[in-house]
Amino acid sequence: MACCMKRILSKRLRLKVGRLFGAAPTSCRGFHAELVRHDCCGLPIVHHSKYVCELPANHRFPMGKFPRVLHFLLQDQVITDRQVWRPEIASKDLLSCVHSEDYLSKLIAGKIDEQEQRRTGFPWSEGIVRRCRYETAGTVLAAEIALQRGLACSTAGGTHHAFPSYGSGYCLLNDLAVAAKYLMDSSPTKRKVLIVDLDVHQGDGTAFIFKDESSVFTFSVHCGKNFPLRKQQSDLDVSVEDGLEDKEYLSKVEAHLPWLLESFHPDLVLYDAGVDPHWEDELGRLRLTDQGLYQRDLYVMKTVVSKGIPVASVIGGGYSRDIDRLAVRHSIVHRAATQVWRECGM
Ligand SMILES: [Zn+2]
Repeated sequence: MACCMKRILSKRLRLKVGRLFGAAPTSCRGFHAELVRHDCCGLPIVHHSKYVCELPANHRFPMGKFPRVLHFLLQDQVITDRQVWRPEIASKDLLSCVHSEDYLSKLIAGKIDEQEQRRTGFPWSEGIVRRCRYETAGTVLAAEIALQRGLACSTAGGTHHAFPSYGSGYCLLNDLAVAAKYLMDSSPTKRKVLIVDLDVHQGDGTAFIFKDESSVFTFSVHCGKNFPLRKQQSDLDVSVEDGLEDKEYLSKVEAHLPWLLESFHPDLVLYDAGVDPHWEDELGRLRLTDQGLYQRDLYVMKTVVSKGIPVASVIGGGYSRDIDRLAVRHSIVHRAATQVWRECGM
């Protein structure tokens, strides 16, 4: 696969990409980071030990996957711990760029009623709120780093079912929307953000949040028969049938990403690399393989980076009772990003 990539990316292109993105920052000032361990030669990975929290026994959400993603990246020597950036907790102020004051107050104080808790799939706890705040800050930090260095990947994120005033489908805060809105507003020229959401479920919360915002383009490829039952309208929805396999799936992505980049001209891409289109996933209905996910992630990040556009990735959805198998599957995006980083001379 490495040889194939080298043929695709000419030396000229690699030099061009290397020049497009600035040098590594020398301090974490101005970033949503509490700890930065610089390694100017490696792909930045955003992770926090508080991405995880306790859940009731036998809860269906595979909470244990988050630390295991980092574990396998280190164990397999895909990254070193010097590449890891640690986000600081997201302030209420940061979250309020997307979420309503009333919702944030209720969420933080534990005043979410039972019906609302059922809709999220999680019983309320201080731990779950804390983990979502770190996760959201991680996505913001990955996007900030990507703007400086071209590419960065969090080991969590992709909570695209959260709406401004309520949570849904295992999502309490919409990290993609907060990152997009914050980075759009923090630039005097109003940055344009393209959200590429390849989780198997539609990014309904994100689509709703940005339905009237011309500076953010939402692109979702999802299984039409899957959750949520009631879809929102993204700027571009590609609804696919059950059982889709690698080749057909990839052709859907390839049919749209290049023209979207050409016509929308984003300043930043946020990439939700959900692994729930995998054939073994308990909630997906598609039939992608590990290799198919790798090709997808490589294609998306390589296509964006080679146009000189920064990209930050989040892991998105993935559901299995076998936590380690799932964590390795989620680490595919970091492995593909490492290849892009190396071969683009970043
Ligand atoms: Zn999903």
